Amino acid sequence: MNLRERDKKHLWHPLTQHKTHGDMLPVAKAIGALLFDDQGNEYIDGIASWYVAMYGHCNPYITDRVASQMQQLDQVVFSGFTHEPAIRMSEALMEILPDNQQKLFFSDNGSTAVEVGVKMALQYHFNKGEKRNVLIAFEEGFHGDTFGAMSVSGLSIYNGPFEDLLIQVERIPAPDGNNNEGVLSQLNNLIAKGNVAGFVYEPLVQGAAAMKMHDAEGLDELIAFCHEHDVVTVADEVMTGFGKTGEYFASDHLEHKPDIMCLSKALTAGLLPMAITSCSLKIFDAFYSDELSKGFFHGHTYSANPLACAAALAGIELLQSEEMKHNIHRVTASHQRFDKHIRQHPKVASTRQLGVIYAIDLNVEMQRYGNLRDKLFNFYMENGVFLRPLGNTIYILPPYVITGQQLQQVYEVIEASLEIL
Ligand SMILES: *Cc1c(COP(=O)(O)O)cnc(C)c1O
Repeated sequence: MNLRERDKKHLWHPLTQHKTHGDMLPVAKAIGALLFDDQGNEYIDGIASWYVAMYGHCNPYITDRVASQMQQLDQVVFSGFTHEPAIRMSEALMEILPDNQQKLFFSDNGSTAVEVGVKMALQYHFNKGEKRNVLIAFEEGFHGDTFGAMSVSGLSIYNGPFEDLLIQVERIPAPDGNNNEGVLSQLNNLIAKGNVAGFVYEPLVQGAAAMKMHDAEGLDELIAFCHEHDVVTVADEVMTGFGKTGEYFASDHLEHKPDIMCLSKALTAGLLPMAITSCSLKIFDAFYSDELSKGFFHGHTYSANPLACAAALAGIELLQSEEMKHNIHRVTASHQRFDKHIRQHPKVASTRQLGVIYAIDLNVEMQRYGNLRDKLFNFYMENGVFLRPLGNTIYILPPYVITGQQLQQVYEVIEASLEIL
């Protein structure tokens, strides 16, 4: 039996309806911006394997550091113990996080980073003796698949069977520059009820909503308003973090900084699963007490795994290097040139870009959604490019180290795909 057949025997894949899904593609190797399947075919990884492998796959700068850490300390309990990889990584992360972020709490993935953020926001008020248990979030937000994260997510395909069991969340539209005043007044009305604990948002770019982008000024006003009313602001930077928007974090584009930030994708340079929920001293201080029960009783077995911390430290060093900054500028400028070229195409309805994130909305009817997605996906793969179109949106979020030639191939294949619509 080949790998495709053996896969079907025991494996249950994420986000998959197995009855209608075809065979899974065995991937044997990855290097830089390239993936290789078991037949030796190569594919350009146009979405950095879900926005994680930003410095390239199997980057030796990262893998060497993890390999040497592996000889020293593999894993240890992070309650009662600490270790140098976590401490050094925390110091490096502090250099690039907004100044108000002062404490780092570890977990394993983006969903748990948000879960922790949500629980911190709720317990912050509980510890202060206030009964606030409602959260505010954007329509079409995506924050992960655990219950708290799922509650704040607004994409119904994920939530259907669990809707009755979720935390109470009120939804507001993302500000688009035209509706800012209306959104702010909705927020005002919700907060006036006195039971809002926190506001959870993907800053500037809603990834799973197909890279939907919103207005920075409008978001800034919402955050400022929350701060005035002691509503805890939780920026889910799981997708936007670590340089993708052209700044270290999307929150760097904004004047008002969040109380809490959720980080995961790209944190460990795509090598190992780890997440961090960072917070300001205002949040931390609400848990700092002589009373044991005011502490944050949440903990994951693999918190601050030393290998993941070593990978993260190496990744942050790369992100700060002139070479990587140059790469980010290069990819950003390249997207801008492609955009000028493709924007007028009759099959293109609109385009948008922030940093290395670039999206095209297609001028096609949404009814043929399911088919269209598969048709485009297959066309890209047949032409050596891995992209995952969403609805009627095609987007690129390539590793920073993608070469000019590889990027050109991605653009050419996207342009060619407009002809098969
Ligand atoms: C991917 C993602 C998550 C969930 O992260 P997982 O590691 O898949 O659990 C949460 N929020 C945002 C914005 C994401 O893009």
